[in-house]
Amino acid sequence: MSTFPHLFSPLDMGPVRLPNRIVSTGHDTCMTDGGLVSDRMVAYHKARATGGVGLIVLQVASVHETAQYTAGVLRAHDDACIPGLAKLADAVQAKGTKVFGQLLHPGREIHGSDDGTRQVCWSASAVPNERFHAMPRALEKPMIDEIVAGFAAAAGRMAQAGLDGVEVVACYQYLAAQFLSEATNQRTDEYGGSFDNRMRFLREVLVAIRAAVGPDKAVGLRLSADDMDNIGLNAEEALACATSLDADGLVDFISLALGSSASRGGAYHVAAPMHEPEGYSAPYATRFTKALGVPVIITGRIVQPQTAEKIIASGQADACGMTRALICDADLPAKAREARTEDIRACIGCNQACIGHFFLGAPISCIQNPLSGREVFHAPAVRADVAKSVMVVGGGPAGMKAAVEAAMRGHKVQLLEATGQLGGQARLAQLLPGRAEFGGLITNLQHELSRAKVQITLNAHVTPYTVGKAAPDAVIIATGATPRPAPLEGEPEIQVVTAEAVLEGGLRVGKDVVIADWRCDWIGIGLAERFAAEGSRVRLVVNGAQPGDEIMSYMRDHAAGRLFSAGVEVIPYARLFGAEGAEVYFEHVTALQPIILEGVDTLVTVAGSLPCRDLAEALAAQGRHVIDIGDCRAPRTAEEAVLEGFNAAQVL
Ligand code: SF4
Repeated sequence: MSTFPHLFSPLDMGPVRLPNRIVSTGHDTCMTDGGLVSDRMVAYHKARATGGVGLIVLQVASVHETAQYTAGVLRAHDDACIPGLAKLADAVQAKGTKVFGQLLHPGREIHGSDDGTRQVCWSASAVPNERFHAMPRALEKPMIDEIVAGFAAAAGRMAQAGLDGVEVVACYQYLAAQFLSEATNQRTDEYGGSFDNRMRFLREVLVAIRAAVGPDKAVGLRLSADDMDNIGLNAEEALACATSLDADGLVDFISLALGSSASRGGAYHVAAPMHEPEGYSAPYATRFTKALGVPVIITGRIVQPQTAEKIIASGQADACGMTRALICDADLPAKAREARTEDIRACIGCNQACIGHFFLGAPISCIQNPLSGREVFHAPAVRADVAKSVMVVGGGPAGMKAAVEAAMRGHKVQLLEATGQLGGQARLAQLLPGRAEFGGLITNLQHELSRAKVQITLNAHVTPYTVGKAAPDAVIIATGATPRPAPLEGEPEIQVVTAEAVLEGGLRVGKDVVIADWRCDWIGIGLAERFAAEGSRVRLVVNGAQPGDEIMSYMRDHAAGRLFSAGVEVIPYARLFGAEGAEVYFEHVTALQPIILEGVDTLVTVAGSLPCRDLAEALAAQGRHVIDIGDCRAPRTAEEAVLEGFNAAQVL
């Protein structure tokens, strides 16, 4: 019997039977080519189908020329989309996975445009959006009819391409939800006012879609079970909408998410990070699952098959969206089915390379799994023609990944780490408040090292002499970086410490702390939260426009709320200048005027790091070819470290 009997039981969604209940829910891959399906997108989804996922819902596709929420949105509003969708459907269905298309009109939720100008955006009523500061125009009846017809035509194209079903996007406060919600629908015609009137647009869309796709395709709806901000479609309206459509037989399934595109607080829940506990979304689905006759999918921080099994077994939902978990490990379903759960590379909810890339307009990937999103360029662990002896120096994420991949390609690999532990900078990152799960990056790599049977030596002192003596065929240098001392004018009479010393050495700080944050990433935010929780007055002085300038917007926005709640004083646009006595001096980066902070006990500097290149340069001076990766090449983040480790192994 399967370890996960509920997860691996089939599920009927109207006329379509899913082989199991693991779902890759709709997410924008940023892999379109001129708005059409690309080979890269096909390869990405094919990898997940090969890994055994039951259902793939493709990314949102526009149903009308006014529905382009980003420049690269997948287009389903003309026939050009059909060949690419057909190719994708063939690739996925050949593996036994079902594939649905996702139909979108975003209404006023417009992120971007082809040429950088602001588009005219449309909604049920002229109610402004808080996140993009867009003021929509109210749709008039002829345009409503045109958009309803657009949904039907786009669904028809998807059916023609051979997809198994379609899902109408009414979540995240997109257009259908803008009609549904009293907060955004102030119409006085037949589309506004009463609940039935506000449902009219969505009903017309679903009726038209059913007529367009026929009885053999599944038709479903994506809803936010809760907008998590009380400014859009609320939880009661969402439940009433779902039960009404179910009663009328207009949907074959309901796919639930949390959050809203319309506000920063709501958007955070669209892809909630590690600050939220695993499976936190599931309780929001229970009322729907109990009330509805059609299957319910729930999505949001469902990382492990054990969690998904429990959600389904307990009746909270019928299927689980495990989207980021599948971005991180496409083979998660196969590993779960074969009871190899310890081999699953668990998503750590960092949001950096998946949805973080989306916001940068770059194809999505995963910081732990560089192959993700790059399947069209690499096959997994292709054996090398000639097995070599490989020495990897440095046991941070870069060195660990290089060692794993090299060993999987058949090389004999030795990993040498100068300290007593693997993990490098990632060990410090996991010590910040709410960031413990970041340590999963190390745990996952350690497991991969042991599976790949890499020989590991800790406390290793590696010199050009020891390298010469070992005479490996290839040397990969991943010696990392060391904290950069902040240049400081004056003679301070206060405690001055680096962030790394506080984190690693557990140094105590004073009652009045100033953090000089050049990095504008997690470290300044995390230390500020920690010191505030310990009772210190905290002034977080950042070199950028806001704390967390360099991190993904959902995470930054949420951090802003936490810092506010903790009473941390934020001073933006400042560069550290010096300290004298108990005063710390900054300069405003544009006004070029002094900012003087008095009464300081402790100054914590977050000044970045300097690459440790001594060994790489000494070996190069001897004429030895070395490959340098990660922070010793140039200090950046874990994503680049792991990617460069992966790439280094590909060229051996
Ligand atoms: Fe998960 Fe982070 Fe990978 Fe995204 S980048 S899939 S959040 S581990």
